[in-house]
Amino acid sequence: MSILKITKYGEPSLRNETKSIQKITSKIHKLISDMIETMYAYDGVGLAAPQVGKNYKLFIIDVSQDENSKNPIIFINPKIIKKSGEAFCNEGCLSLPDIYTEVERYSDVTVKAIGQNGKEFILEAKDDSLLSRAIQHENDHLNGVLFIDRAKDKENIQAQLMEYGLSTIAKKDK
Ligand code: ZN
Repeated sequence: MSILKITKYGEPSLRNETKSIQKITSKIHKLISDMIETMYAYDGVGLAAPQVGKNYKLFIIDVSQDENSKNPIIFINPKIIKKSGEAFCNEGCLSLPDIYTEVERYSDVTVKAIGQNGKEFILEAKDDSLLSRAIQHENDHLNGVLFIDRAKDKENIQAQLMEYGLSTIAKKDK
């Protein structure tokens, strides 16, 4: 396994569309292992393939936050099939270090995806849990959307970006 370079805000791969994974090849298995190692190396809760420069519909999440019992969940070709409620929470992202802002999310989501074993699964994440937020944040990455696009306070996020020399929000319409 190896630690991959995290794509930072401003690099085009964060804004690109991603493609579905047709077959879980050894290359994909290797990518998943490397992404898991990378996520832990950077203390992330989640990591999406575009954040390591790969335009695949793939992300990983581990909300266990326990050094001794790591429990990564692999989402291949995920689709949010149900969403409801609203929640506001402070978010950050490994691709935008040191930037945090309040973002509106759904409080409950149900996601359908394929696991690393090739089997489809459905996962419900409720009550504005960390898992629910992480799923929505990572899923956005697969559509070229970043949490700053959903910032409640646009002026504040603009000010933070400027502070770090990231002058503009390369905004997408949706
Ligand atoms: Zn992110």
